[in-house]
Amino acid sequence: MRYHDPRRFGFMLLTHINELSKHPQISSIGPEPLGNKFNGPVLAKALQNKKGPVKVALLDQKVVAGVGNIYACEALYRSGIYPKRAANTIKGVRAERLATAIRDVLNEAILSGGSTLRNYSNTDGELGYFQHRFRVYGHEGEPCQNKNCSQHIRRITQSGRSTFYCSSCQR
Ligand SMILES: [Zn+2]
Repeated sequence: MRYHDPRRFGFMLLTHINELSKHPQISSIGPEPLGNKFNGPVLAKALQNKKGPVKVALLDQKVVAGVGNIYACEALYRSGIYPKRAANTIKGVRAERLATAIRDVLNEAILSGGSTLRNYSNTDGELGYFQHRFRVYGHEGEPCQNKNCSQHIRRITQSGRSTFYCSSCQR
């Protein structure tokens, strides 16, 4: 096993499997998006008490586990949701679209071996390539990739993190 965590977001915990869900570092974490129980209604419930922007809520690990800044931007773009939209308005079909987009983005990123060239390598020391497949993240000023859209990608800052979005496709 090799553990390399230059940004220090992670930790290792040695505990009995039966105690794991009760551990204070684990018990407050939101639903696992790649788990069998994650879907639109589960996501809508996790967001229902969040009045702030959906993009900021997605980064809160108590709302949903494991969605980082890049993946939040990509998932909102794919699901056509405006990053500043109030989190508690994400319900029904919109919540289903967002839940699907989160799963798709995470699955594609895992298949491509992660995103961050400088930080990430697999056990063979090879680097991740999902960064080459970002549709919106890092594309400020470039044309939106969606068909029939003539807008350019914008960048704003939300809670100190960059958000990239299309003002025409995301509502
Ligand atoms: Zn667009």
